[in-house]
Amino acid sequence: MPLYADIALPVPLDRSFTYSLGSHLAEVGARVLVPFGGQRLMGVVVALHDTPPPPEVELKPIERVLDDTALLSPELLELARWIAQYYCAPPGEVLRGMLPLTAEVRRHWIYRIAEQGRRVLYEGAVKGSSRRSRLSVEDQNREYAVLNYLETGEPAKTSAIRGATGANKALLDAMTKKRWLLREPLAEVRDARRLETIAVLAEGSGSDQTTQNVSSRPEASRREAAVERPAFLSESPQASAGTKRLPKLNDNQLAVMAELAGCGGRELLRELRSRLERRGISASTLNTLVKRNLIRLEETAQPFHVTSLSMHGQRFAHEHTLNEAQTEALATIVAAMNLDSQNPGGFRPHLLYGITGSGKTAVYVAAMQRALSNNKSALLLVPEIGLTPATAAQMVAAFGSEVALLHSQLTPDERAEQWHRIRSGVARIVVGTRSAVFAPMPALGLILVDEEHDSSYKQEETPRYHARDVAVMRAKLLGITVVLGSATPSLESWNNAERGRYARIEILERVEARPLPAVEMIDMRAEFRETGQEQIFSRQLIQETQTTLDRNEQVIILLNRRGYSFVVMCRACGEKIECENCAISLTYHKPGNEHDLSGPARVGARLECHYCGFRRTVPSICPKCSSEHLFFLGAGSQQGEERLQELFPGARLGRMDRDTVRTRGDMERLLQRLHSGEINLLVGTQMIAKGHDIHGITLVGVVGADFALGLPDFRAAERVFQLLTQVSGRAGRGDKPGRVLVQTYQPDHYVNRFAQTHDYTGFAAREMYFRRAMRYPPFAALANVLIQSDQLEEVLAISTQLGKWLAANRPESVRVLGPAPAPISRLKRIYRYHLLLKSERRDALGALLRSMLAFMEETGIPRRAVTVDVDALHLM
Ligand code: ADP
Ligand code: ZN
Ligand code: ZN
Repeated sequence: MPLYADIALPVPLDRSFTYSLGSHLAEVGARVLVPFGGQRLMGVVVALHDTPPPPEVELKPIERVLDDTALLSPELLELARWIAQYYCAPPGEVLRGMLPLTAEVRRHWIYRIAEQGRRVLYEGAVKGSSRRSRLSVEDQNREYAVLNYLETGEPAKTSAIRGATGANKALLDAMTKKRWLLREPLAEVRDARRLETIAVLAEGSGSDQTTQNVSSRPEASRREAAVERPAFLSESPQASAGTKRLPKLNDNQLAVMAELAGCGGRELLRELRSRLERRGISASTLNTLVKRNLIRLEETAQPFHVTSLSMHGQRFAHEHTLNEAQTEALATIVAAMNLDSQNPGGFRPHLLYGITGSGKTAVYVAAMQRALSNNKSALLLVPEIGLTPATAAQMVAAFGSEVALLHSQLTPDERAEQWHRIRSGVARIVVGTRSAVFAPMPALGLILVDEEHDSSYKQEETPRYHARDVAVMRAKLLGITVVLGSATPSLESWNNAERGRYARIEILERVEARPLPAVEMIDMRAEFRETGQEQIFSRQLIQETQTTLDRNEQVIILLNRRGYSFVVMCRACGEKIECENCAISLTYHKPGNEHDLSGPARVGARLECHYCGFRRTVPSICPKCSSEHLFFLGAGSQQGEERLQELFPGARLGRMDRDTVRTRGDMERLLQRLHSGEINLLVGTQMIAKGHDIHGITLVGVVGADFALGLPDFRAAERVFQLLTQVSGRAGRGDKPGRVLVQTYQPDHYVNRFAQTHDYTGFAAREMYFRRAMRYPPFAALANVLIQSDQLEEVLAISTQLGKWLAANRPESVRVLGPAPAPISRLKRIYRYHLLLKSERRDALGALLRSMLAFMEETGIPRRAVTVDVDALHLM
């Protein structure tokens, strides 16, 4: 039996920790509770061995083993190791992200009496409590009661102390602050299946007839039940048909029974409680009835909501017969999976380049069906379920209860429930966002990554992994097929296909031979010359919108900034009004037309920071020079909507941005109204460019998208090209062909030219040429080292120190740029500097970063101040 276990703990340190096993039995991949820095933490066993740690390390024992068998498979542990290594991330934080089971470990506080507390207790007993007279007498007495209760020195939980003394958590915390008490966290495991408790009228205490009647007409019968005596109260033969006679009940008890009978004999316990509360009946009455077996409590699993989106007559992906191109794509994938043979097909990465509207979803569904019918499970990653609920709906339509959904809007309990369904093999089709790449699927046979270019696959906090790349690695470890799909593949994936590392599958036609929309550029410089006015919408866009609406078709217009105006500038001194916390211009929001938000979220006119949420009122004079000439620049979606309202008073207008869509429900409702034609003119940010498949849209307008070309980021052109292509792809997906009008100040920019001809391949070739020359990804590995602190001096000191160390220690093959202020030099009150590392040799880059982290630990540079972002997507 091994003596020691290496445990990965969720702390920002780049290693695991050795504990003695004692008499515990633990498997690699199981969770354990261990003492760490005065706390108890949950960690994962990553190794078992007999090598004692160096003598200077204080060896502590494991406190508790939480899982009898490994929770993480060897494959997922291996994947975690790879992520920790590749992304320079602490192994414990990687594993924490893999196990969405936080719901199962709840934090409790325990309290002990402190030295100071004892003194108060004894002195107070002698001298009285004059020094503490600011508290009410009651609270003073409670404090004494708490000290008395804890006097023995035994620690106690909040709930126990409250039960004994009536002291609430606030009082205990105040006592902790005064150092009368010591407080420690206690990690406790609980069962996280999402169960609901239901109160049920016990058999024999009510007649079946009554309950059935009642359940069919709940409202009416509840009243009747209260008036007429329900069966169980009368001495009718039915009621006494049971073996024992009903005991005598008091009025309140009878009222509870009647209430429950009125609900059809079954009701959620919390519902019943709140109803009784309204009638002034205490919970103890109910408890008595439970004790006397007249009411039974049952646990049932809560139902799980997938989506309420309906497709308005459009067919689901699995209902189509695949066309020739789709069939061929499927054949390639199925051949790679090599399902017929005993041996799995081996690691076969594919890039599925299929233009917008080419029917990629139907190919995914068919490939997943093949996996299922060969007893394999399949994983589909999607960028953001909230933005494209239709994909989830398609999968549920095709696979029903086989589907598990994993996304960021699940509660911890829901997430744990899905996780268990997947792990047990009940749900063999998993659809999910980024972290679903870790879904614990037995017999995984196929991984699909939809819209693989989407930047939401990159996690922007530790561990900063890219789910697409992790998916490829997972497929490699398992020796299975992985398919990355997109109409605008990332240049990284395109390059891999060019070099033959990925097999390329192409679908270059839309389904039913529908044409791609004609794209026209509108030169806004000429528009200004001819009209002499700065307008959001050009004359041509206005006119074509009108004719499209007149034809009963739908129009969407992209205005990729939310709010009303995104810059407020002083004409006198040139100052832009910035956020107090960030080096970012504030956006002006008008009150009023944030109408799609339900509830009290309406707010007045304000300036808002889109990075930290800071808000202030709109000043009437410049905060810097007091001039009155403040100037609102740059139209956002809110202003776009207002202007469209004026231009098209007859249109049925909608808006889609972060101010009108907060939740999946908001998005589903808005898409529903688009599908049904209730909305015929939609303005919005890039949300409107996601994979929506709405057949009535025939005109797409693009306003101000080329603004982003000027951003100081080498991926700017790629992002704009993707956005233009994706938003254009929303037009002409039904029977009628579509049109796209792009308003631009740079009609000859290569991004616009290639987007106009739907020439992804041409764009990629042109962009690759530039990337190669500049040694940017995909021709070099890149890491961003970000130094952050609320103290500017600390940022400068660390930046200088790391800059010097890197200059002295970098190998020839790694280039170091900086340190320099990050493009956003201050964010949420944190100062930001960065260093960019580039190398054609990824191993050299990784090795350098790891020795930099070791150097930091040696010299005491705090890890929290330094973020290492390998394959950084955003350099801002
Ligand atoms: P993509 O993701 O490639 O842009 P989708 O998967 O959204 O395309 O499919 C576009 C539309 O084509 C959807 O409405 C889908 O139902 C439909 N479709 C898919 N396959 C076929 C087919 N074989 N014949 C006709 N329509 C199809
Ligand atoms: Zn000014
Ligand atoms: Zn801010």
